Amino acid sequence: MSLFKVLHYPHVLLRKKGTPIANFSEEFRVFLKNFIATMYEFDGGGLAAPQVGISKRFFVVDFKAVFESDRFENEENNFKVFDKNNKEIPATFPMVFVNPELIKMSNSVKVNWEGCLSFPNAESHDTERFLNVEIHAQNEFGEKFSVKSSHLYASVCFQHENDHLDGIMLPDKWNKKSFFDEDIIADIKEFENDPKERKRMKKLKVIDAHKLKFDFL
Ligand SMILES: [Zn+2]
Repeated sequence: MSLFKVLHYPHVLLRKKGTPIANFSEEFRVFLKNFIATMYEFDGGGLAAPQVGISKRFFVVDFKAVFESDRFENEENNFKVFDKNNKEIPATFPMVFVNPELIKMSNSVKVNWEGCLSFPNAESHDTERFLNVEIHAQNEFGEKFSVKSSHLYASVCFQHENDHLDGIMLPDKWNKKSFFDEDIIADIKEFENDPKERKRMKKLKVIDAHKLKFDFL
């Protein structure tokens, strides 16, 4: 298993728009295994390809812990998964979304707890999101499926990860008057330069995914 280096703001590759995946190769699925391991290693609820410098349209999520916690009560029927024939299937995690499309969003909400692995140590500000989301995507084999979510955490996560695929990040969603870009970058630098973090990163031996060649790029 390899772990990939998660790029931190303001890395230029975080701004690059992803292009669709056309080649659902074995190499892609091996990549996804490492990509998912990277999400777990850094305790993310989701991770999008541009965050490791891969300008393609896919992300992974795992809501299991959140669904089981009290903070975001998983009311019945507020997270439904459907196969390509529109037949409801059980939700299993981690869940891979390739070439996703958010097709329906409604019921605007404001949240102030949104985090991002590309913004370690940065404070969070209000973001405007939608509570109800319908997302259509393909799995790691290219099979179509869809999700209907009215679960706040899951819906916010989908919008957040989908934004990454278009190079959109948290500060773009924040009130411009509520923060200074330099402060965010300083907080991130402070995190990166912390001796404990440096030691940890050295031990993890993370790989720069964007410096490698893959057949699905
Ligand atoms: Zn993020």
